[in-house]
Amino acid sequence: MKYFLTSLLSIFCVSAFSQSLSITYIANEGVLIESAGKKVIIDALFDKYYDAYLFPDEALLEKMISGKAPYNDVDLMLSTHIHRDHFAPTMTGRFLKGHPETKLISSTQLTQSISKDYAEGKSVAKQLEGITRDEDIHQHEINGLKVSSFFIYHSGGSRTRSIENMGYLVEINGTKILHLGDSDMNPDRFKELDLKSLGVDIAMVPYWYMADEAGTQIIREYIVPKHLIGIHYPKVGSPMALKEIAKNFPEARVFKEVFEKAEY
Ligand SMILES: [Zn+2]
Repeated sequence: MKYFLTSLLSIFCVSAFSQSLSITYIANEGVLIESAGKKVIIDALFDKYYDAYLFPDEALLEKMISGKAPYNDVDLMLSTHIHRDHFAPTMTGRFLKGHPETKLISSTQLTQSISKDYAEGKSVAKQLEGITRDEDIHQHEINGLKVSSFFIYHSGGSRTRSIENMGYLVEINGTKILHLGDSDMNPDRFKELDLKSLGVDIAMVPYWYMADEAGTQIIREYIVPKHLIGIHYPKVGSPMALKEIAKNFPEARVFKEVFEKAEY
């Protein structure tokens, strides 16, 4: 009986996390997710624009655009919104031209910006899937990956209402990873989305969520992830916030350095 239970437990463990998965930090909210040959890039193609946040340097940008390993065979690219510390139209366009295998899912605001601002926009048009802002959760299947995408207003209230900010839940080899972009900490919208019911294994949230009362409530009641990573951490740092985060979510980590890696 004891042997039976042990083997049952090991079968369960193996199937629950059958493929190892890594998340490599690029800069600000940019990451590369890899698992068993599947690759997803989120919010990583931009250059220096806001000095307050990390950005990929020119050598790294060229490496990503030209598809040098590990930036080759990228199945999916996600861009949360058009702000320049997350996205640059020309670099994203060049990336897609260099990666005919890659599809991009984002708001129509962002895909139109590529079509308009990238000189060779026509050549990558087929790789773009633009979504019109609404209140639904959209389901996609791209290169063997399942994606749920949805809109949440950008943080900052009426000042940033026009910015079409998206969140994504990507399923890669059975593990579900959430990325929120710069979503506003609005419990009502998170309640409506009910991400918890979709099952969130790893949540990447702006670090301030974990140091804030409303953000903490959203994570605990409406996301309920198994693992937590804070992103969008400023270069100068915020020791006060880190202290709060350690108190509220002792198991969470915050990405601070380019190429930092979380492995699961
Ligand atoms: Zn933003």
